[in-house]
Amino acid sequence: MIPYGRQDITQADIDAVVDVLQSDFLTQGPRVPAFEQAIAAKVRAKYAVASNSATSALHLACLALGLGPGDLLWTSPITFVASANCALYCGAQVDFVDIDPLTYNMDVGALESKLIEADRIGRLPKIVVPVHLSGQSCDMEAIHVLADRYGFKIIEDASHAIGGKYQEQYVGVCQHSDITVFSFHPVKIITTAEGGMATTNSETLADQMKLLRSHGVTRDPSLMTHKPDGPWYYQQIALGLNYRMTELQAALGISQLERLDQYVTKRHEVARRYDLAFEGLPITIPVQHSGCYSAYHLYVIRLHLKDIKMAHGDVFEKLRGQGIGVNLHYIPVHIQPYYRNMGFRIGQFPEAEKYYREAISLPMYATLSHDEQLVIQNAVKSIIQ
Ligand SMILES: *Cc1c(COP(=O)(O)O)cnc(C)c1O
Repeated sequence: MIPYGRQDITQADIDAVVDVLQSDFLTQGPRVPAFEQAIAAKVRAKYAVASNSATSALHLACLALGLGPGDLLWTSPITFVASANCALYCGAQVDFVDIDPLTYNMDVGALESKLIEADRIGRLPKIVVPVHLSGQSCDMEAIHVLADRYGFKIIEDASHAIGGKYQEQYVGVCQHSDITVFSFHPVKIITTAEGGMATTNSETLADQMKLLRSHGVTRDPSLMTHKPDGPWYYQQIALGLNYRMTELQAALGISQLERLDQYVTKRHEVARRYDLAFEGLPITIPVQHSGCYSAYHLYVIRLHLKDIKMAHGDVFEKLRGQGIGVNLHYIPVHIQPYYRNMGFRIGQFPEAEKYYREAISLPMYATLSHDEQLVIQNAVKSIIQ
């Protein structure tokens, strides 16, 4: 089976991890801060805070922004459940904003309408989480304007988007947001096995996320309620968690980061070949919005089901049957039974639901070979035509 995504591990990556295994620190050593600095420098954010997943980075970001019971977080229904669950961890509530039918990202027009209504009834969100689906940035400038007008904070879920650009700047620069979160799961652009990172330009937010990542415990006397009892003394000043990244992961991340631009270039080459191969087929290929340079985590096609005369699920199964590890990103979060039990209904976000009935993610990763890609393209053509 050709997978839909996979990691690329070089000898340099292996050597970097082995070096850590033979060093004094497996965790809480020098590599994590070095990886944080490397990411911050790459995307030109002031601060970066590493964690053991993007899910925990989203949770830390929500906590640092003060999300709690009685608050609301809005995100896109076409995302991984983690973009919404982070609000529930904080005791807050979730709501969704439907997607733009062209980019599949949060529809800024729908966001504005929903904000106008929420303002009227006094239920504005505290945080909005735009998700850069497939690695293509949302319209952050427009969302930022709305944030200033309606007073919400922005966490970019850029789990798909490291190495992507918005208006000539790397995603993660946080020009139009408070915090940006990256994932380093093996299917993503670069990997640390499990791992995540939050970037921000706010020292306060960075410090808060670092504190909460490690039990809410500090060794900084200026933050304590009284003078340290002795040189051993640490004090818990908040209820934190253990969301730390290990030194092994950070070493792998530093090594992978060197190839980030190369990987994204390769992904664009794969996308270009798919685009050409699918010309004239009854499918919609990914739209590249002007001002965006996608990291191309995913290559999503949408089937024109009326012209294909075959069910979506049948096309999917035929592709799997031919050894193509297609996938579907994502099941709209609001139709997950867990969310329906909270009151969400089918029909609430029609563009997201229509997308779900038509979308298929084709294999997309930097080391996908030409031969493998030909197999995929021929299978798609023969099944759909
Ligand atoms: C992968 C992913 C996450 C979660 O990332 P982990 O590092 O696996 O926790 C969150 N949001 C989106 C959009 C993702 O694709």
